[in-house]
Amino acid sequence: MIRERHLFGPGPSNPYPEATRALADPLLGHLDPEFLRIMDETCEMLREAWGTSNARTLPLSATGSAGMEAAFVNTVHPGDVVVVAVNGLFGQRMTDVAARCGAEVVAVEHEWGQPVDVDRVLAAHPSPAIIAAVHAETSTGVRSDIAALGAGKGDALLLTDAVTSIGGIELRADDWGVDIGYAGTQKCLGVAPGLAPFTINDRAFERRVETPRSWYLDLGMLGGYVGEAGLKEGGKAQRTYHHTAPTAMVASLHAGLTRILGEGLEAVWARHQAAGDALQSGLEEMGLELFAAEGHRLPDLTTVRVPEGVDSAAVRRELLDRHGIEIGAGAGAYATSVWRIGLMGHNARPDAVLLVLAALEDALGR
Ligand SMILES: *Cc1c(COP(=O)(O)O)cnc(C)c1O
Repeated sequence: MIRERHLFGPGPSNPYPEATRALADPLLGHLDPEFLRIMDETCEMLREAWGTSNARTLPLSATGSAGMEAAFVNTVHPGDVVVVAVNGLFGQRMTDVAARCGAEVVAVEHEWGQPVDVDRVLAAHPSPAIIAAVHAETSTGVRSDIAALGAGKGDALLLTDAVTSIGGIELRADDWGVDIGYAGTQKCLGVAPGLAPFTINDRAFERRVETPRSWYLDLGMLGGYVGEAGLKEGGKAQRTYHHTAPTAMVASLHAGLTRILGEGLEAVWARHQAAGDALQSGLEEMGLELFAAEGHRLPDLTTVRVPEGVDSAAVRRELLDRHGIEIGAGAGAYATSVWRIGLMGHNARPDAVLLVLAALEDALGR
């Protein structure tokens, strides 16, 4: 059943109409000059969205999790100390991925719902090779201060998950000292899932693993994939076959980014903030308790405690069946005690906020 609107990005998302339409356009071959133009422009627009001038900025052909894998498999040498800030599910996952790459993982655990404690993370080891943190923890609805980690990282590389921040909240990879970053398309970019916007600077690229254990995600080979134009300003595109680019997905991302940059990144961030603020005060007015620490709440993903005695799943089902609204269950230990309400991309609008508040009020009989 096709539902008109969904409020939680990680489920079936609500892509911008342009991005949806691009998926229905006639397919282009992956070496068609028209596609190569679209790819080059997509990489250029991704640089803007990331806030970077990194030549190596491209959409990896797989979901955000593959971005995470690419980040670690290309930069972790066996025995490297990797400090990981863990304040939710995705930070936890980073520790697993880093360990599989042979890292000596130093996990800095936080209570869920709290932001990353920058001082504790920076003090966790005297000379880590990598410091890794999630900018926007989708599992808890918390924003962390990546710029502060960048300012204190010393000689370490800073590796950042921006899956739920790109195109939704302020993100300035270069200004903040991010050396390696990965993101996803289906959260605030409002495009179907399936690509991982990725960026790595020269400093991190020079320290990369010569022969990573992953062939597909070997960044050393991807220069040929995006072409010289993707790597050198004004360079001539020289594509060598690495894998077939998912042309429809890239065209869809191109359409989504065109829309976002047309609106203006700062305007997009402000729209998300206004929607999140309105939702969060509306929930509090209903007497509900927000989960994420005050002052560190994401506008695009709100976590709220399920009231005592309320069947979390029944309310979610009612919202979906009666109103076509999808809200998420909590993550991990909070599966039935927290709801996660996304206002991402197209859904970060006042009418979506009013609708979800009214529907929730109705479902809870408040
Ligand atoms: C959704 C998400 C991921 C994983 O992305 P997939 O596209 O589902 O593979 C990683 N990190 C964060 C913070 C996310 O929200």
